[in-house]
Amino acid sequence: MSQEILFYQVTIFIMGLILGSFSNVLIYRLPIDKKGILTGRSFCIFCKQKLKWFDNIPLLSFINLNGKCRNCKKSISFRYIFIELFSAISFVLLYIYLDNIFEVVFYQIILMILMIIIFIDLKHFIIPDELNFTLIFLALIHNFFTDFNLSFNDNLFQSIIGGLVGYSVIWSIIFLYDKLKNIEAMGMGDAKLMAALGLFFGWQSVPFVLFFASIIGLIFVLPSILRTKKNLQTEIPFGPPIISAAILYFFKGEIIIGMIIKY
Ligand SMILES: [Zn+2]
Repeated sequence: MSQEILFYQVTIFIMGLILGSFSNVLIYRLPIDKKGILTGRSFCIFCKQKLKWFDNIPLLSFINLNGKCRNCKKSISFRYIFIELFSAISFVLLYIYLDNIFEVVFYQIILMILMIIIFIDLKHFIIPDELNFTLIFLALIHNFFTDFNLSFNDNLFQSIIGGLVGYSVIWSIIFLYDKLKNIEAMGMGDAKLMAALGLFFGWQSVPFVLFFASIIGLIFVLPSILRTKKNLQTEIPFGPPIISAAILYFFKGEIIIGMIIKY
């Protein structure tokens, strides 16, 4: 490998770490305090001690501090390091496999928004509008970047129908459950997320994603239902199953649909 290529890859890796670090800030602050996202100094979530700059360097500070706060010695969640590394590695992989740098940045941002949604939804059972609307916007404009290597769907009409179908299917589920049983089955955040994914992949993806998201969601909640004898009306974060099903559709959708049609 030439030194020049190595230099670019290391630069992309470091930028990925910084983006991952910012994603961690969004995961923590977006659901609770939107004002301090860009201006607020980072602090330990346990003792609220403001972090010195040298304790706030992605990856290195975590290793240097042995994963513990310098002040109160409480363990820093492994999530921080996981998201920083995920971001850095995915950024480098996109950079290696795609030749258009604009496309690399575009898909890296989408990947990180999906990660942020997964972690916020798991903890708070919400998907902030800022994330969903950004995804919807990116999903819509991606139809116009005809020179992208990665294209999920090249038909603007199918994309827009996908967005509308995705949104209205979940909206209908919410509406029916509310009217018939007076329970909140899913949130409007799930409907907006489904709209974004429908815009990305086209309307054909919607039944597939909903079907597999339901199965994945059920597998997730089954242990806690059995253990605590809760019923199915327990609050379920539906964002992570929807995103997992969309990723399955992206990689194996055609093969799985082919198998279902065959039998
Ligand atoms: Zn602390």
